[in-house]
Amino acid sequence: MTQPTTAAAPRPLEGIAPALFLPMGVDGVYARSALYVRVREALEDYITRLREPGVELLRFPPVMSRRQLEKSGYLKSFPNLLGCVCALHGSEASIRAAADRHEAGGDWTAALAASDLVLSPAACYPVYPIVAERGALPAGGLQFDIEADVFRREPSLSLDRLQSFRMREFVRIGSPDEIVEFRERWMARAPRIAEELGLPHTLDVANDPFFGRVGQIMAVSQRQQALKFELLVPYFAGASPTACMSFNYHREHFGVTWGIRDARGEPAHTSCVAFGIDRLTVALFAVHGIELDRWPDPTRRALGL
Ligand code: 5GP
Ligand code: ZN
Repeated sequence: MTQPTTAAAPRPLEGIAPALFLPMGVDGVYARSALYVRVREALEDYITRLREPGVELLRFPPVMSRRQLEKSGYLKSFPNLLGCVCALHGSEASIRAAADRHEAGGDWTAALAASDLVLSPAACYPVYPIVAERGALPAGGLQFDIEADVFRREPSLSLDRLQSFRMREFVRIGSPDEIVEFRERWMARAPRIAEELGLPHTLDVANDPFFGRVGQIMAVSQRQQALKFELLVPYFAGASPTACMSFNYHREHFGVTWGIRDARGEPAHTSCVAFGIDRLTVALFAVHGIELDRWPDPTRRALGL
């Protein structure tokens, strides 16, 4: 992501927040209202209608294999964002003792140990090992429609910076030519999508928020190679725009990591087009308001509302 993706506690959104999100006791973790879910589902159906023929659908749970994420290189890039599932392991007596410490007003969490699960930090990580298991890619490669509720440890009061949010992705796995063509096709489509939804937008080169000082070098290199673009939407006049979609080219990273070969036997290249479902849903409410019958006709028609 680019730096100015989050509008700091944007006051104009405070008015609409109660109609969309209900507090759950932790910043950036919210229950969604019926009104919010109605629009989110309409948006999901709209994206489904954009899906190209021959695309395989997969839905992932919010957790994934810790070993698979480690192998993907996540800890090199974003160790600060990762949430790991921890649990009380061991004998009945040791688990009982830890739980009793809580009952006695003490700290039970010191007894936790990491499990073999992490909270998925992006939707597409689990798809590459699944594809690798199938052997060489078919001619023409593969494309997937995937989704997961993902987690990133970034507590914030901003409505566009959630710790738990939904990410939908179209993922392409194939030869370099196929991948470049896929990403360019979606980058050409994205402004038309934003226009249909009535959202002001720009498309710009971007970088991920790589961790630490070494991360800054990775971010510069990612920008220089134009490996990431984002569709940016300002939630209100004068707001710093929020990244609502991203267009990522991983080159051969996942192909080499998982041993996925394209039809010619070369390491596969991969790309994903990510829809930030929660950010797009909030954008729709921020731009058009919370009264659906006052939304612009073309937006309502596009969403079937
Ligand atoms: P990326 O992997 O490019 O960082 O994330 C993919 C998409 O997920 C982004 O374009 C954005 O729409 C969405 N996203 C990223 N971070 C957040 C966040 O903190 N909150 C919400 N609601 N969506 C996010
Ligand atoms: Zn992805």
